Amino acid sequence: MKSLNICIDIDGTITEPYYWMELANKYFNKNITSKDVIEYDMHKALNITREEFIKFYNIYAEELHFKADLREKAKPILQTINKKHNIYYVTAREPKMQEVTKKWFDINKLPKGELYLLGSHYKVEKARELECNVFIEDRYENALQLADSGFKVLLIDCEYNRYDLVSGITRVYNWEEILKEINNCDIQKKKEISVGIA
Ligand SMILES: [Mg+2]
Repeated sequence: MKSLNICIDIDGTITEPYYWMELANKYFNKNITSKDVIEYDMHKALNITREEFIKFYNIYAEELHFKADLREKAKPILQTINKKHNIYYVTAREPKMQEVTKKWFDINKLPKGELYLLGSHYKVEKARELECNVFIEDRYENALQLADSGFKVLLIDCEYNRYDLVSGITRVYNWEEILKEINNCDIQKKKEISVGIA
């Protein structure tokens, strides 16, 4: 039987966080870098309106998602995690992105896991439904909401999420650290079971 239920965000967590930037720079005739993205909302860094960004996204979403690069070591570590734990991919992407998202998982040979495209940043309900033990995220506001509801969150470091953390959130800098944290959680859970508190 698998041990932990692990919910994993996709964009900025499994993918490299700035895969939209090159195309957005070209489209809007800008020259921003990752250092300019100090908030999650990309339109702010591009100095455009939210509507303009949505228009761009609606044109290029499939292309962007299909070509997205992975973060370093995400693939081998996801494969390692998948051997011992349940993986649930929980993303704010719209349900209409299901096909391209699945294709992207296939071509990158990532573990299958169950895929949930919520079309919303609110992930607490899904985490509850999946009895999530660890949630891996890059969006600060999601991390706060999840931690506030009692979930353990690993927040993968990005320029746009460097705010003060609250109890329940651990900042991690790469997938190797994520694996270490998950192993620690697993040990902790087994200890709790053995003394009868879980
Ligand atoms: Mg994300």
